[in-house]
Amino acid sequence: MAEELTLRVITPERIVADTPASSVRMPALDGDMGVYPKHAAMVAALKPGVLRYKEAGVETVMFVAGGFAEVRDNTVRVLTSAGEAPEDIDEARAQEALDRARQRLAGSRVTDRGEPIDMIRAENALQRAVMRLSTRGLGGR
Ligand code: ATP
Repeated sequence: MAEELTLRVITPERIVADTPASSVRMPALDGDMGVYPKHAAMVAALKPGVLRYKEAGVETVMFVAGGFAEVRDNTVRVLTSAGEAPEDIDEARAQEALDRARQRLAGSRVTDRGEPIDMIRAENALQRAVMRLSTRGLGGR
């Protein structure tokens, strides 16, 4: 039998995926990274984006909110603050998060109460929202 990978996607709340896979593609900080069986051991930081894996010729996609990936002994472990299948993504909520982040980035750098707005946090929230919406669009429903 051909060698396979095991993919585990773990958030603080739950195990989003624990599945065999023939290949995995992940959103590493410096671009998409593909992993096949017998890949060398490594760790990589991830940005918010689409994780894809193939099993029996069928590709599955999910959103991951960044984090870290570890590859060792044909196992890919992804530790991320959030991960969702396309059908679990609440589109209206992601759109609201996107609008909120855009307002923060476009407007004054202080709140109505004069407190500074954390631009890096707003930019990260924007990236999560954009990638959730794009993953939702890949879901086919
Ligand atoms: P929001 O501002 O809407 O909370 P966020 O990007 O700050 O968005 P996260 O901190 O990434 O949210 O996630 C917090 C929890 O909410 C996680 O469990 C995540 O899976 C879930 N979540 C966030 N946004 C959505 C969404 N649009 N659809 C489904 N689940 C979501």
